[in-house]
Amino acid sequence: MEDTPNQAVYDVIIAGAGPVGLFLACELALAKCSVLVLEKAAHPHSPLKQLPFGMRGLNTLSIEALDRRGLLPELEVPNRFQQPHHIAPTKPGSKPQAGGHFAGIQFSVDTIDPAQWQYRLPSSTAPQLLAELEELELVLARRAAALGVRIERGQTLTDIQQTAHSVTVQTDEQTFAGHWLVGCDGGRSTVRKAAGFDFAGTEPEFTGYSTQVDLADPEKLKPGRNVTATGMYMQSQPGYLILQDFDGGAFQKAGQPITREHVQALLRRISATDVTISALHLATTWTDRARQATTYRRGRVLLAGDAAHIHAPLGGQGLNLGLGDAMNLGWKLAATIRGHAPAGLLDSYQSERHPVGAQVLDWSRAQVAIMRPTPAARALHAIIRDLMQTRDGATYFAGRSWGIATQYDLGSAHPLVGRSAPSFELEDGTTLGELLRTGRGILLDFVGTTCLKTLASEYSSQLHYVSGRAKEPAGLQAVLIRPDGIVAWASDHAPAMGALQQAAARWFSRHAESRL
Ligand SMILES: Cc1cc2nc3c(=O)[nH]c(=O)nc-3n(C[C@H](O)[C@H](O)[C@H](O)COP(=O)(O)OP(=O)(O)OC[C@H]3O[C@@H](n4cnc5c(N)ncnc54)[C@H](O)[C@@H]3O)c2cc1C
Repeated sequence: MEDTPNQAVYDVIIAGAGPVGLFLACELALAKCSVLVLEKAAHPHSPLKQLPFGMRGLNTLSIEALDRRGLLPELEVPNRFQQPHHIAPTKPGSKPQAGGHFAGIQFSVDTIDPAQWQYRLPSSTAPQLLAELEELELVLARRAAALGVRIERGQTLTDIQQTAHSVTVQTDEQTFAGHWLVGCDGGRSTVRKAAGFDFAGTEPEFTGYSTQVDLADPEKLKPGRNVTATGMYMQSQPGYLILQDFDGGAFQKAGQPITREHVQALLRRISATDVTISALHLATTWTDRARQATTYRRGRVLLAGDAAHIHAPLGGQGLNLGLGDAMNLGWKLAATIRGHAPAGLLDSYQSERHPVGAQVLDWSRAQVAIMRPTPAARALHAIIRDLMQTRDGATYFAGRSWGIATQYDLGSAHPLVGRSAPSFELEDGTTLGELLRTGRGILLDFVGTTCLKTLASEYSSQLHYVSGRAKEPAGLQAVLIRPDGIVAWASDHAPAMGALQQAAARWFSRHAESRL
């Protein structure tokens, strides 16, 4: 951190101490940047972040990211909902394991064909797990503080100004200065609006409700997820009721208070019963509005998480998308700040993450299209249900939902390049997750080649050379892995040095550090 005569100047100011802002703060601080996080809420607790409202499904990519920073054990130990690590048929007679859903249609883990995921190794972390949002934020805030991040709560960002060299941020109480600002301030982002980002997309078709209620006559409702002629209702656990009303998003748009009378009338209409809600304890609404910032960067201001993209929470993708943004942006912004970013490194945040965000928005739109209470949508729903029960169908939906199918186009013909690296384990027991915890890139050499070691030494401040036999090398001889765990280069044969040199120079710099 620099000090001007009047004020500290942070490398990065982050607006929002949600999961994305906090994870990004950890990534930047790990790379020795000074970080200030400004958060509107005075304290980190909220019933909407606690179970059952705060239940969030983490996908494979998020779990791998947390593992690669040593954060997983803190979440995993008390996690009661963890899926088995190995995707295999359950024993005959036992209940099929639910793998997730698309438009409310469940796919089963047992139906998946793991052989289609060539690089998913037996040493992989769990493909998905359920976490509590509040707990995730507390774990991330604790790590951020341990890394020296300053988190200021009760500071609502109200405006910003940027020059070619810095950004000034106003809150309702103070002014702060930084070289960069990242808006992680959620779907209604003030940063996005103040910096003039375009937020393009589609308007909602429904209002969704998550409510905690007492029902006088719960037997009048059917169990499970019920799609009816006017919407959907689901009681996922006693008293926790989720509703979907195809009102064009009108209720949420009007900003009306959510009363017991309103929820009861809605539930009666959707369920076609005269069920009675005797008390409404807590309620929140959401919609399927799907918008994405057309660019993720304007000058020295960047966006990540819900500030950059919003969509319906169907099938649980938003948090995973945001954590992926943070993992992708952190090391690139840090390298830019520390003066060792190759040309175009920061631009690759947009070129890699924007298409992934657009895919998730379409994934949610496709679900809405077959959830509409119309005969055409129901007919399509039935076809998707049939397809999802096939082996290829379940594997496709799991690959998309769990993030296993995600691949950045890095211009290589090798099928692994651009994907999250397999969770290799060396014969001495060291895992890739452990090797990546310092936040440096890894050149993993399974056969011990002198020229690879020499090349890695040219990038020694950013790249760690590791030689050792892997328990399951997946047919590979050597792999270059970026700090975010993405494969930048891979070789199944004796390495072609030209391609490796090109890949190393694209992501890392030979120059010694010179802070900008
Ligand atoms: C019902 C529901 C279920 C969901 N389930 C899943 C799931 O299973 N899996 C999944 O991946 N995703 C899920 N999501 C989506 C997920 O919760 C969000 O995508 C995720 O929380 C976004 O994180 P974020 O850090 O970007 O934003 P947020 O969590 O919104 O955090 C933004 C932070 O910024 C702060 N802030 C806002 N304005 C300002 C300001 N002006 N100044 C300072 N601070 C500010 C806020 O107080 C907040 O702390 C679900 C969403 C909902 C609504």
